[in-house]
Amino acid sequence: MAGAELIGQEEIKEVMDVLETGILMRYNFDKERKGVFKVRQFEEEFAKYCGVKFSLGVTSGSSALKVALEAMDVGPGDDVLVPAFTFLATYEAVLEVGAIPIMVDIDDTLNLDPSEIEKKMTKYTKAVIPVHMCGVAANIDKIIKIARKNKLLVLEDNAQGCGASFKGKKLGSFGDMGTFSFDYVKTLTTGEGGMVITNKKDLYLRSEWYHDHGHDHNPKVGRGLEGRTILGFNYRMNELQGALGLAQLRKLDYLIGEQKKNKKMIMDLIAAAIPDVGFRAKRDPEDDSATFLAFNLPEEKAALKFQKLLSAEGLDTTCYKYNKWHYVPNWEHFLAFSTANSKKYPFKNKAYKGKVKYDRKSIPFAEDILGRTLVMGISVKMSPERLSTIQKAIENAAKNM
Ligand SMILES: *Cc1c(COP(=O)(O)O)cnc(C)c1O
Repeated sequence: MAGAELIGQEEIKEVMDVLETGILMRYNFDKERKGVFKVRQFEEEFAKYCGVKFSLGVTSGSSALKVALEAMDVGPGDDVLVPAFTFLATYEAVLEVGAIPIMVDIDDTLNLDPSEIEKKMTKYTKAVIPVHMCGVAANIDKIIKIARKNKLLVLEDNAQGCGASFKGKKLGSFGDMGTFSFDYVKTLTTGEGGMVITNKKDLYLRSEWYHDHGHDHNPKVGRGLEGRTILGFNYRMNELQGALGLAQLRKLDYLIGEQKKNKKMIMDLIAAAIPDVGFRAKRDPEDDSATFLAFNLPEEKAALKFQKLLSAEGLDTTCYKYNKWHYVPNWEHFLAFSTANSKKYPFKNKAYKGKVKYDRKSIPFAEDILGRTLVMGISVKMSPERLSTIQKAIENAAKNM
């Protein structure tokens, strides 16, 4: 549960600063707000934390993806490479801007396989979205290299990897743009919320305009007199979210440190109990956010049996091959092109000339590895009682295999 576990006095204080002024909106009301600009401050501190120039708070991780795709000018007629293992929102965001997602296989990091990019791209492919699932980095340096060679834009969906890094550099800061989710179960939470980051001023400005109906946010004039160049929508973060984000960001490194300790203990227990266990591959052993632990057995049958035994001992794990929300072949509404609009736009749009196929045969590595991998959530706070329950569950399950 990560950040939600640590909500306390610091969050209360930041939120009270806002409530004392009564100004819940991030823009305008300069006199009444008495110098309180929580969203702006959160953005500045978040950009600094990630080592990037620009950062924009938005309403969710889903809207962050959409805002970033709009800023990158991805739209009708384009397609976008997206890994088979991700939350549904990554695909929905591509469809939301009128583009078509192309499903790509994963590698042993459980993230987008760089060697798939040139195999799956078409002449309409404009961007690739690596997703750092469960807080572990994709092979991001290779992905960037291959994308650059093929003139593809890179948008990192880092909804699950807030605070994680790759060779000392924060995830989300490698691509042209990066996005984060602060929903209630994410590493850093503002209840609902998200962030877009980039080093490119033009992409930042287009995001900023798009997320607020095109407003150019000229500080010299009132809101009603601001200029605009593009149409947009409303994905503005509010001051209460900004306040929560500030308090949570200050706890982020502590949180990850605690999760790392807890993850290491559980990893050692698993390694000791199961002789033929494997762990998810990491290209940088030190730098995940330790929100999840993923381990695998040589065969799917054994993995599913082990999962059942663990569950009987009170320890729940996820086998993502059978998860309803994070694996493309299980999305029956997506596979049926059941868009909210009855025209099945953009799947049936004339501008789209390629072929869309989302069949299991085209993602053999995901089919194998996700079927024999079990994923366990790691909490920030772990009591000795909980640790002993986990230990007993692992040891008993291993005995009964
Ligand atoms: C949670 C999540 C999102 C969406 O974030 P919300 O804030 O819930 O809209 C997008 N991508 C991934 C990989 C996620 O896990």
